[in-house]
Amino acid sequence: MSRVYNFSAGPAVLPESVLEEVAREMMDYNNTGMSVMEMSHRSAAFQQIIDEAEKDLRELMNIPDNYKVLFLQGGASQQFAMIPMNLMKNRVADFIVTGQWAKKAYQEAQKYGKANKIASSEDKTFSYIPDCSDLPISPDADYVYICENNTIYGTKFKELPNTKGKLLVADVSSCFLSEPVDVTKYGIIYGGVQKNIGPAGMVIVIIREDLISEDVLPGTPTMLTYKTHADAGSLYNTPNAYCIYVCGKVFKWLKNMGGLTEMQRRNEEKAKILYDFLDSSKLFKGTVVAKDRSLMNVPFVTGDKDLDAKFVKEATAEGLVNLKGHRTVGGMRASIYNAMPKEGVEKLVAFMKKFEEENA
Ligand SMILES: *Cc1c(COP(=O)(O)O)cnc(C)c1O
Repeated sequence: MSRVYNFSAGPAVLPESVLEEVAREMMDYNNTGMSVMEMSHRSAAFQQIIDEAEKDLRELMNIPDNYKVLFLQGGASQQFAMIPMNLMKNRVADFIVTGQWAKKAYQEAQKYGKANKIASSEDKTFSYIPDCSDLPISPDADYVYICENNTIYGTKFKELPNTKGKLLVADVSSCFLSEPVDVTKYGIIYGGVQKNIGPAGMVIVIIREDLISEDVLPGTPTMLTYKTHADAGSLYNTPNAYCIYVCGKVFKWLKNMGGLTEMQRRNEEKAKILYDFLDSSKLFKGTVVAKDRSLMNVPFVTGDKDLDAKFVKEATAEGLVNLKGHRTVGGMRASIYNAMPKEGVEKLVAFMKKFEEENA
């Protein structure tokens, strides 16, 4: 067996102990004589899996009782439509556009009502988070929308925007469970799980109960109505059962590690190793404003396209893979999610130092 250090932005690295555990349970899950993949989603064994996953997630994030947890399909992208369909009662929503994912959500919402771009950082290739302390929030806005961690550009909201009393909706795909959050500050928190939690193909939606109703935009499909899934405990139709099972294992892994406070400590420690090197390097430099830096996605460049390509190629040969940056930023991006061990970041920095010496 030869494992690499996988710096992919998503689907991404998972904890090795979780992979080993699900491999051990592949042929016979908990004396059922079958894999979770083969199991009815209406079985007692699966009900226990989904109940425990929800319970552990609630514990990890300290989710209040007046919030529902939904395990849905369609990825994070489906929420770009599902949110306005369910929440845009006045057909108005305000968007803070800090990257491609926020922009996609903003564009999709325009199909359903008036989507206002109330702030943006597109003028500088999304390399910073705009000042959100006093934004022109629309008086009739149904909600204010953010993408809390910008996977492609490597920025993160360190402070939530002042929504002036309006509901906050946040896409947390790439920072899900990376640090403690105060769920009560949000109407909806959601994220695709393939960045920081589990395999691809599922989105977790944490939604305040009073936002769940039958009063949705005309024509909203049953499958895209939150109430459908809330009433059925995420089992209205066949869910992504195997994904829920693996996510449940990751929740247990996180709890065993000490929960989100400990995860934050580890993530800060890992990110510091990389950012400190970037700040001292003569060859490599980070691409975003220092105060807005993400702990999860770290883009960097040499300033020379050919040298960037050489770096990515040589790093790959060293078992440091998926470091090529997004095409809109160029250069490199190291995604260092919860499951990336500190040794992976240390190896990467050691290789960057060596590369810098060799290419000075
Ligand atoms: C990856 C990503 C998405 C898209 O996720 P899908 O599950 O592929 O739809 C949306 N938002 C953010 C912040 C992402 O990182």
